[in-house]
Amino acid sequence: MIKRLGVDLGADTIGSGEWDLCIVGAGAAGLALAVQFVGVSQRVLVLESGLHAPDTFAEDLNAVVPVGLPHDGATLGRVRAFGGTTRAWGGQLVPMRASELAARPWVPDSGWPLDCETLQPYYRRVEQLLRVEGPPYDREVWQRLGLADPGFDPGEIQVRFSQWAALGRRNFAVLWRRQLENASNVTVVLDATAVNVRCSGQGRHCEGVDIRSRDGIAAEVRARSTVIACGGIESARLLLASAGGAAVANSSGRLGRYFQDHISYRAGELEPVSRRVVQDLFDPRYVGNTMFSVKLEPTDESMRRNGWLNAMAHLAFEIPEALGWMELRRILRSAQAGRIELPSLHEALEMLRGSRELARLMFARVWARRRRSPDNGRIQILVDTEQAPQAGSRITLDTSVDAVGMPRARFDWRISELERQTLTGFARTVGSEFERLGLGKVRLAAEPDLHARDSPGAARDIYHHMGTTRMSRSPQRGVTRPDLRCHDVDNLYIVGPSVFPAGGIANPTFTALALALRLADELKSGSA
Ligand SMILES: Cc1cc2nc3c(=O)[nH]c(=O)nc-3n(C[C@H](O)[C@H](O)[C@H](O)COP(=O)(O)OP(=O)(O)OC[C@H]3O[C@@H](n4cnc5c(N)ncnc54)[C@H](O)[C@@H]3O)c2cc1C
Repeated sequence: MIKRLGVDLGADTIGSGEWDLCIVGAGAAGLALAVQFVGVSQRVLVLESGLHAPDTFAEDLNAVVPVGLPHDGATLGRVRAFGGTTRAWGGQLVPMRASELAARPWVPDSGWPLDCETLQPYYRRVEQLLRVEGPPYDREVWQRLGLADPGFDPGEIQVRFSQWAALGRRNFAVLWRRQLENASNVTVVLDATAVNVRCSGQGRHCEGVDIRSRDGIAAEVRARSTVIACGGIESARLLLASAGGAAVANSSGRLGRYFQDHISYRAGELEPVSRRVVQDLFDPRYVGNTMFSVKLEPTDESMRRNGWLNAMAHLAFEIPEALGWMELRRILRSAQAGRIELPSLHEALEMLRGSRELARLMFARVWARRRRSPDNGRIQILVDTEQAPQAGSRITLDTSVDAVGMPRARFDWRISELERQTLTGFARTVGSEFERLGLGKVRLAAEPDLHARDSPGAARDIYHHMGTTRMSRSPQRGVTRPDLRCHDVDNLYIVGPSVFPAGGIANPTFTALALALRLADELKSGSA
């Protein structure tokens, strides 16, 4: 069932009796967890702050008080509505590899309490849910795509391929809405913002959560187990604001700390010797409905030798104006967000003017199984890095409050010298490899500039919010245990990229979904 608090579900109903499981947040991780319970005997309640579609009231609840580096994603990079940020994400899936989970002496506070082997079976299940092809993700994919391996120096560069979920399976609100509507044991409640996690026994046992609607309806939910799945900023904010601001699950003092994102740097431009050769190598390809795109990454040995973080480089083909592509992309994106917007007159004319180009694009997609890049325009080299986990990069509570009475998040985003060294160092390696292979001439940009947006050298966050409720083996070093149960609270769990102790360079959602499925198994069997 999907209901709205105060409209088709009263506060008395939701507050009467005890639920077996309460999941707070109906985004990527929360919904992936919830659908695993459809049809089982447990009664599950999913609380979602937003409505069926994004609106300004819900969006304002996300507003932060920024005190650190400029960070676009705190405002633009998350969606507060049923489906959460899956209404906007790209669907790009990359599994973590050992170098991302490993403790590295040159990266303070790195190292996961889990290994890659543990994640593998859950990655396979996520691939089935999202209907992507699955392994391999490494250089063997060249052959699978019928392309010759271009021969990047194996001492310096390893390749990894992303797989992208099809547009029709990206928005989890669309993907699982019917299943949840028909589920008799799972109730999703919209306009139910959790404002407090209620604990007893000196904070060691979670009784449930207090919720509030936009019209001021309040209810106390009671549950045997509670999972917080509110995203990298909100999960920490909710727990910090609980117990009257004394915080829940924070005996380590690490709650809200170690916020990490990925940083994307416009590292330079490639002037190709043959544009066709570069396009043939780097244009995304399709196998079935899965799109594959190639990334270049430093090898483990190169990271060790240079003291770098995990990083990846890829090419971005600038889309010239007036080809109709941007307009088409906007319409496809609106379809993903669940509100199909027809083109405006201006857009329709642009698409008509670019109809030859668009026809070429469609032809390439259907016949050549390829997402064709434009034949003109600049080719940018983008280098992305993970961040070194830093305790000072953090969410705390501000004195101002939002419309449901929650203290706003005060957001201090920081980066370290390691990120700068990795971005510039790996950009040089990629540049020399392009030139050595005769692919073209590379013009490298200036140092990364986190205040610039469009110029060469501009560097910015890319909406991957991680680290604020990090997992650890020892209760002194993190918020959750490796099985995602909070160290301090015996029946409270957190899921989502916020539990990543170190970000790695893989896009985070694949791993967050794998962790959600693992948690579902444990909660269903009663072993967590
Ligand atoms: C444009 C864009 C592109 C992206 N592309 C990719 C990509 O290609 N690959 C990738 O891996 N990642 C990508 N991401 C990141 C990805 O979307 C996130 O990693 C993922 O959504 C995080 O999942 P989550 O469940 O932790 O948070 P969310 O999906 O944000 O869900 C959190 C949910 O909790 C709800 N909520 C918040 N606070 C409360 C509260 N107090 N009470 C009740 N409910 C609450 C929210 O409304 C929301 O529904 C992209 C993000 C953006 C913005």
